[in-house]
Amino acid sequence: MPHVGLEGPSSHTAFVIVDVQNDFCEGGSLAVAGGRAAAAEITGWIKENSGRYVAIGATRDSHVEPKGHFSDHPDFVDSWPAHCVAGTVGELPPAELGIQPESVFSKGAFEAAYSGFQGRNHNGQCLLRWLQDAGVTSLHIAGIAFDHCVLHTALDGAATGFSVTVLSDMSPGVSPTTSAAAAREMAANDIWVTTRDQAWSRCRGAG
Ligand SMILES: [Zn+2]
Repeated sequence: MPHVGLEGPSSHTAFVIVDVQNDFCEGGSLAVAGGRAAAAEITGWIKENSGRYVAIGATRDSHVEPKGHFSDHPDFVDSWPAHCVAGTVGELPPAELGIQPESVFSKGAFEAAYSGFQGRNHNGQCLLRWLQDAGVTSLHIAGIAFDHCVLHTALDGAATGFSVTVLSDMSPGVSPTTSAAAAREMAANDIWVTTRDQAWSRCRGAG
């Protein structure tokens, strides 16, 4: 008989905020519509649910010389306008993000890096090790953009053994087409794409 239970206090869930940064919000160099609203919604959600998360981390783009990731003629798929350059205002979280994550993982200094699992914190620790040290078994992920860095962070999370839930209503995408493809790819990799109201009600079947 498969065991089916609800995700609850007995599961060790972390919240990972993905790339909620000024340049990805309205007014930034690579603005995604809905970025500021998502920052505010993620803030409200974490404040309401902080007691249920064993860890709250964040990832960020922090580019120095990321080669072909930047282009003066970007295709908005593999190349982009310059964004989130280390040491600039564009790299910082927007004012709407009113919470301080316990650890921030920077990625992409010298190459494109769409997954937060490529990042390291100020101690040089990678996201995977930090989550493992905190005893985390499942992840709630939200941020910018749904069809790029949220997608790749979720895929890496699932590939490394976490139960992954993506909160799509707090994760704006760059385009509807790539967002639909991202949702299909996540579903195919056992990632649950849902909304806030269902975040804690994932039925987990263990065979
Ligand atoms: Zn980037």
